Amino acid sequence: MHTLSVKTKNQTEMIDITRDVSAVVASSGIRDGVCTVFIPHTTAGVTINENADPDVQRDILMEINKIVPRQDGYRHAEGNSAAHLKSSLFGSSATVIVAGGRLCLGTWQSIFFCEFDGPRTREVWVQVSGT
Ligand code: ZN
Repeated sequence: MHTLSVKTKNQTEMIDITRDVSAVVASSGIRDGVCTVFIPHTTAGVTINENADPDVQRDILMEINKIVPRQDGYRHAEGNSAAHLKSSLFGSSATVIVAGGRLCLGTWQSIFFCEFDGPRTREVWVQVSGT
């Protein structure tokens, strides 16, 4: 397993980590298999979406912040229930096929680390399995 470090700058933010994950795949020497990206945090997540137009990331964050309001009578004493909810909605892992030693992503797809309770320094765990 390989650990990536991600420094976030905002409370909610999407950071393209595709290049870092691809580097892990390349260094693994595995040609065909799967790459699992796992987020070991309860107030962050991972998603795969468009990398071409940054407005897509802006729109996703704008809408998720509407769907899950920051304050809504939550009981969790830490005060970051909205971030926990967003983490569960996005999910903690993504799996990408590895073929020919490379991640198989669509033309416009990138892997995004999703911060929901930043800014913080976060970890991303990457495991490449196969032959
Ligand atoms: Zn909490």
